[in-house]
Amino acid sequence: MAHKPYILVTNDDGIYAPGIYALWEAMTTLGEVTVVAPDTEKSAVGHAITIVDPIRTQPVNRRSGFQGFAVTGTPADCVKIAVRSLLDRKPDLIISGINAGANVGNNIIYSGTVSAATEGTMLGIPSIAVSLNSFQGEHWETAQKFARLFASQTLKRSIPVGTLLNVNIPDRAINDIRGIRPARQGQVYFKDRFEKREDPRGRVYYWMTGEIVDPSESEQDDSVLLHKGYVTVTPIHYQLTHESFLTELDSWELDD
Ligand code: MN
Repeated sequence: MAHKPYILVTNDDGIYAPGIYALWEAMTTLGEVTVVAPDTEKSAVGHAITIVDPIRTQPVNRRSGFQGFAVTGTPADCVKIAVRSLLDRKPDLIISGINAGANVGNNIIYSGTVSAATEGTMLGIPSIAVSLNSFQGEHWETAQKFARLFASQTLKRSIPVGTLLNVNIPDRAINDIRGIRPARQGQVYFKDRFEKREDPRGRVYYWMTGEIVDPSESEQDDSVLLHKGYVTVTPIHYQLTHESFLTELDSWELDD
């Protein structure tokens, strides 16, 4: 690429999260970077967008030149408003993360991190979602290394139209990473439980919690490889039609 790549950094943990700072720092070694991210945490909002309320933006400057906009919207809103309004030119790459917590299996559907990248692909821009497999996030430098690797490869090569890269990284020191494996979206899901509580006024409320369940067995599944210490990369597309069942539907008696 002749010119310096222009990179949009976003996330779902909010513009003040440690992961987005680590991602911004990693991307500054590759090109010119602008950050557009939610003003507060918007994890698990999926691909939601804001249409009933106004969206407000606020310039943000963190240390060492980190600058961009905090947005009172979802991750998908951030990508839309960045590309359509806030940026002065179309980015060459959109990268979302680094999320605190893996985005594997069914979690991908709920993930704001992945949805920001999905929105990028919908706008025709190569996009990557990056997650670290820990809610505490100790080894950001490991995630930075692989975020940089996938970003530079994506800038050099091409991703099929409508497809994004979903990258998951073990929360380990770089030397303890076993390698990189292309992986399939596995079977992980969250078994919900609703804790019933009472507020100070005696009114009942609920808080969703639960546990991660992983029936994945295949050596190609994202969570299996991630837990073994591999960085996983899964190409994901948002074209949701089930092709073979579409054909089978022809045999249904649908004439009225
Ligand atoms: Mn998150």
